[in-house]
Amino acid sequence: MTQRIQKLSPLLANQIAAGEVIERPASVVKELLENSLDAGARHVQVDIEEGGSRLIRIRDDGHGIHPEDFGLALSRHATSKIQSSEDLAKIMTLGFRGEALASISAVSRFNLISATDKHGGWKIQAQGVIDAPELTPAAHPRGTTVEVRDLFFNVPARRKFLRTEKTEFEHIDELIKRVALAVPAATFVLMHNQRQIRQYSGANDEATLQQRLADLCGPEFAKHVLKIEAETAMMRLHGWIAEPTFSRSQADLQYFYVNGRVVRDKIISHAVREAYHDVLYRERFPAFVLFLEIVPEVVDVNVHPAKHEVRFRDGRMVHDFIRRAIHDALESLRPGVSRVAVTEKKVASAPVMKVQEQMDVYQVLGQPVGDVQHPHPAFGHLLPQVGEGKSDARAKDSHSTSPLPTRDLDESNSTSHFGRGATTHSLGYALAQLLGTYILAENNQGLIMVDIHAAHERILYEKMKRELLSGSLPTQPLLLPITLNLSEREVNTAENHAALFQQLGFQIERLAKESIVIRSVPALLATNAAEKLIRDMLADILEHNMSKRASEELNHLLGNLACRSAIKANHPLTLPEMNALLRDMEQTENSGQCNHGRPTWVQLDRKELDKFFLRGR
Ligand code: ADP
Ligand code: MG
Repeated sequence: MTQRIQKLSPLLANQIAAGEVIERPASVVKELLENSLDAGARHVQVDIEEGGSRLIRIRDDGHGIHPEDFGLALSRHATSKIQSSEDLAKIMTLGFRGEALASISAVSRFNLISATDKHGGWKIQAQGVIDAPELTPAAHPRGTTVEVRDLFFNVPARRKFLRTEKTEFEHIDELIKRVALAVPAATFVLMHNQRQIRQYSGANDEATLQQRLADLCGPEFAKHVLKIEAETAMMRLHGWIAEPTFSRSQADLQYFYVNGRVVRDKIISHAVREAYHDVLYRERFPAFVLFLEIVPEVVDVNVHPAKHEVRFRDGRMVHDFIRRAIHDALESLRPGVSRVAVTEKKVASAPVMKVQEQMDVYQVLGQPVGDVQHPHPAFGHLLPQVGEGKSDARAKDSHSTSPLPTRDLDESNSTSHFGRGATTHSLGYALAQLLGTYILAENNQGLIMVDIHAAHERILYEKMKRELLSGSLPTQPLLLPITLNLSEREVNTAENHAALFQQLGFQIERLAKESIVIRSVPALLATNAAEKLIRDMLADILEHNMSKRASEELNHLLGNLACRSAIKANHPLTLPEMNALLRDMEQTENSGQCNHGRPTWVQLDRKELDKFFLRGR
């Protein structure tokens, strides 16, 4: 017999809706916090008992709910945040779907107390039923308290899926952290089973903001961040990215916000990864807290019931903007360009040459040049500081080995104790080679120690990238060609990627079904390293689908080549050789880290040295 169609009761409809939005206690906390912030709250207290399964109570000092609106606040499809579909296109609040309170109250024992002024408030209780809840007077300062007890008491299937108290609380803790990062001016207090676990005090200046970042993301992160600030007519990106030397083994310190909302987005994570891929080993993850503000008309926030995702009208533009802003900030991490100077000094006009150089890179790597923008004055300070006159010279001399003009040396140092000419170098002058591995050098501040292999690897890598782009990676024919026995699949791969190998300076040919011959190798590469490198490259190509990430892969292969060609430990260097390496480092992009993200040099300044010897105490 055919079943007839019936309308769901409002309670059942809301419980079904809750299935999408309310997955666990942390989802309740998320929705309630968003409501508090939308109400302009500056102080929010979160009380949790038993991981949230027994109690979630959120109290705020926002504008409160009008007594006549209590019933509406709890009904689905009722909101004070939008009225028309035009409003939907330009949402600036966190909520807008009008279903959170309806959903939560359908799956818990629910209390709402709210006051719009200090003359007392009102309260309703909705215990898993929503029809005509009774309004009673209740004492409450201006603001709102929502109490959610026994979550999922009437949805046993869901309640069964709750994890341990500890796990659920960790989710809540993490969620509050995310919200607190986005709203630094607000204070958040988190209690668990009557114990205070967190207090994030509202920040109102640079120093307290820095403190809050350290509280939320750890002091190490706060110590190793670069400030990001970039802007176009449609978008602004700001926040912090970690120096590559502070990378993570997992993607656990990555926060991205679009118009104040935490989102997961493939376009964004890809852009960040691309910006970092040159300075980070591929198994490492960058750390960042970034806020994108974008005109709301070009982003759709109504994509996911829990609003975890957004859709950009022009994803490519957003992608390129983010990648460039981060890339430029990372690139400025060179010896001699101090971090403070980079982040604080404002440069009115950015060198145009740099943009041109980037365009060349995109063209060669087969990426659309598209909307390459000239650097906006607002983020000129993210670019490396370069002498204007020299940048012109560099533009003409495209064969210069330095990718960027040498930084003008600090004139005030010209009478230093070095007495070696009118200027000094930021990495100073070599004194000795230590343990076969490090250069010891002296500069104005004190002692410099350089990891020879790591530094040389970076220099070679950047040099090879430039040569690759200009098609001039030098190659060296072999007097005795090398024959390699491989699997048929590897031989096919080698054949299919012959052009790529050629670009890198290898000339290889198929010899038989299961062998190839190498006729020439990159000039930089030691001949005996060629065989292993080719085998590794083939394995790499087979494992990571090359065609998908060609430019990334190419750079990875170059990185490999650089690593194998760089000076090895215990290779004795003369002082002039060491000084030449130091000078190269000063002129090389990204030379603060090797290709794997390890630092290439450290400075011990006079203060630190004095400390060792307890001087001046
Ligand atoms: P939405 O946030 O999508 O509008 P909700 O179901 O979360 O939907 O909330 C419904 C309405 O209740 C909101 O539009 C708002 O007017 C009101 N409201 C909820 N929480 C608060 C709060 N903490 N302070 C003030 N108003 C609130
Ligand atoms: Mg809401």
